[in-house]
Order: sequence, then structure tokens, then C-alpha cells
Amino acid sequence: MSRRLSRRLAAVPACAVVAALALGGSAPAAAGQGGTDLIVNVTHRARALHPGEIVVLNVRTSEAPAALEASAFDADLRFFPAGPANVWTTLVGIDLEVEPGEHPVTVRATAVDGSAIETVYTLSVEPKQFATRRLTVEPRYVDPPPDVVERILRERDHLAALFPVSTAVRYWRDGFVRPVPGRANSAFGRRSVFNGQPRNPHSGADFRAAAGTPIKAPNDGVVVLATDLYFSGNVVIIDHGWGLYSFFAHLSAIDVAEGDRVRRDTVVGRVGATGRVTGAHLHWTLRLNDARVDPLALLELFPAAGGG
Ligand SMILES: [Zn+2]
Repeated sequence: MSRRLSRRLAAVPACAVVAALALGGSAPAAAGQGGTDLIVNVTHRARALHPGEIVVLNVRTSEAPAALEASAFDADLRFFPAGPANVWTTLVGIDLEVEPGEHPVTVRATAVDGSAIETVYTLSVEPKQFATRRLTVEPRYVDPPPDVVERILRERDHLAALFPVSTAVRYWRDGFVRPVPGRANSAFGRRSVFNGQPRNPHSGADFRAAAGTPIKAPNDGVVVLATDLYFSGNVVIIDHGWGLYSFFAHLSAIDVAEGDRVRRDTVVGRVGATGRVTGAHLHWTLRLNDARVDPLALLELFPAAGGG
């Protein structure tokens, strides 16, 4: 699957006011050639720099740039205003299976006068050892009968084509809410062994919740899939825009339809035990520019005001 997204220019409002800045953190890069001395300073925050984490990248510029672009892990990134003048934010997803080591984030800022500066910010991804969990499920979810193989491949291809699409609109805003009140376990990234056979690493977080518990949209978005899948059971996928997707699995009921615009807190379905499960729970997979990242990282980095 190609993770290369089309090149996009993140247009940011240009204004002639030059802010007085106290630059700190990483060594700032300056354009210098020609008229404008555009200074760019990059910082980040994250729970950790491990596979499966989300990195909040902040770019501070000495004046409002005409354009700001960045790329990391083969994905093009978009910026939104962080709040303070001339500070811009983007989210970087470190896929669950990224190789540990130095990974560059390339940031390119263009000044109003057309001069441009490119700076490379390095993310040092540390290795992480994920535990292995052994589960027992119905045999048909480990050795699927021949008549469902075609269905499984079709569903896999459909999902593989869906997540790399980065919608140009950013629907999500402010903070994210927990979809269910229950505690989430730390199952993200665990190597799963079903009935003694190893399978793909677990690319979501599981929340304890009784069957029938309403599932809330963690943020605004558009429902892009509301259907029954062989392994995931009843699913709802919300496109939050700008490459961010929420994938809820194993639902007992679906309360939305494809194309529905949902708001944060909209009930999209009910917790259940459909598909390859050992019991009722909510499975939430989060995709960010196709990277599989831990939803709990997003809740920690961007919590909704007043908890959630
Ligand atoms: Zn799960």
C-alpha cells in the first residue's frame, strides 16, 4: 500500500505584522537570502517517541509566512494556528511498525517576499517492546472457511484504500472525548496469538464497556463506513479530516449511516461482541496519515475541556 500522499501546500493567513519573539528550544533556522529574515523554530510534545505514538509539532515563525509545508514518514502534513501569533501546529503519526532510529521531519516556510527556508527536525524514535497476548476465539476467525476468503480480501483492500485518503477539510477541533466512559486497557501494539496462531499486532485500544453502551464520536467528522466486516463485526469509521480516522469495531448496533456528518458526542453505535472477539468491548483504531497510532495518545495530548 502506498503511503505517499499528494503534495499539498498548507496556506496560512499572511499578514505584514512581524511579531517580536523570544526563540528557545532547538536552534532556529533563518532564511537570510534576499530581503526577509524569516526565522523558523521547531519544537514538539509527545507522550514518548515510540512506534504508535502521536507527535504534536509546533512551528514558530518570526513573521506570518505565506506558506508552511512539512512532511514526515512519507506523509504531507497540514498546519493549523496553535493560538499564539505565528505558532503553527501539525500532528505526526509514528506507525506501530516504524523502525526505531532517526526520522526526519522536513519543514519548509515561505516568506511573504517569496524567500523560502527549509529546516529538518529529527525525531529519534526509541524501540518499544510490545507484549504478546493469547486469545481463544471461534475457529472460523482463525481458519476462515473458503467461502469467506474472498470477502475478507475485499474488506481488507477497502480499508487499505480508505485510510491513506487525507480529506482536505479539518472537521476535528479542540479536544477529543472518550467514546465510552470505561477504562481502556493498554492492549495497543500487543502481538496477538489467536488459538495458538500469531496474527497482526493489535492496532487499537480496547475499552471495557457493557454490551449496549452508547459509543460517542470523539470529535467531529463524516461517517465513511457503517457496515458489517468479517473480523471487525459491525463497524463505524469516522473521517475527522486531514488524514485522521476513528475506526470502531465489534458494535452490537450501528446508529449512523455512511455520509452522516457527526459532531463530538454524537452517538454512533452501541458496544457489542460482533466479529473476532472474546467478549463485549469497544475496539478503537486511530489512523493518522495512514499510521496506526494509539488513541490514548490523542486523548492525552488533546483532551476535551472539562474531561471527557
Ligand atoms: Zn481490539
